[in-house]
Amino acid sequence: MTEPTKKKLSELAEYSASIFRTRNITRLDAIADMEDLQISYDSYENAFDGMLVMDGNYWHIHIDNDGGNGQGTRKGRFTLAHELAHYIIDEHQRGIACGEFLHASKFDVNRSDPREREADHFASVLLMPAQRFRAVKTPRKFSADTIIQLSEEFQTSFLSTVQRFCEIGTHSVCVVFSQNNIVKWYRKSVDFPDWAFRFKIGQTLPSTTIAGEFYSDRQIKYTKPEEMDPSIWFYDKWSVSGKMHEQCYYSDSYGYVISILWFDK
Ligand SMILES: [Zn+2]
Repeated sequence: MTEPTKKKLSELAEYSASIFRTRNITRLDAIADMEDLQISYDSYENAFDGMLVMDGNYWHIHIDNDGGNGQGTRKGRFTLAHELAHYIIDEHQRGIACGEFLHASKFDVNRSDPREREADHFASVLLMPAQRFRAVKTPRKFSADTIIQLSEEFQTSFLSTVQRFCEIGTHSVCVVFSQNNIVKWYRKSVDFPDWAFRFKIGQTLPSTTIAGEFYSDRQIKYTKPEEMDPSIWFYDKWSVSGKMHEQCYYSDSYGYVISILWFDK
């Protein structure tokens, strides 16, 4: 996504979020009502998370309850925000209307279709507008509790909140997402040290990381922040004065682990 596109989508999403909100919670149903969009929550057996379709002159959003997208759930809210994006972004809506963009979204952080990435970005900003996100008073000392607090505040999933935090959060972090001990993706704040990891995407994690230890024995679950030598994760190029921490978030239902790494300020 180019920077001008990202900026344009952010402005569009921030505008909707500024009108339709209760405290910090974006009222997605109110946006759908205003646009005359019908939303159906139903059992689609994990075929997709959400789908925007045109039926005659009417637009419908179908949402799959089976994939954990129930109405008002945090994953469901992201799915709905993503589908609203396809409706609100002109180019997407036109593509779907003329059948050129056949659309059924299944959540995947590494989606390659640029329209899916645009809709994800729009959804993220719609649910967590930058100014409001950064204005939430969180404890001075960062930990995963900061992310949990923000996800409560905005009614967003831990996963989408931690990604947004990498982009615009108030503390520099690095986030590594793994499933069955395979690294699927990572995100870094722009000011996090630019060191090479001791693994590649698609490989296993270093065994002495907190997440790595969990995969070698699933009874071991450290949920508190642990001090960590950066050279366990990285080929660090210079010594750092602050201590690095790792804290893991374990999703039992989806079978993944999110490792958050950060330094004291
Ligand atoms: Zn989509």
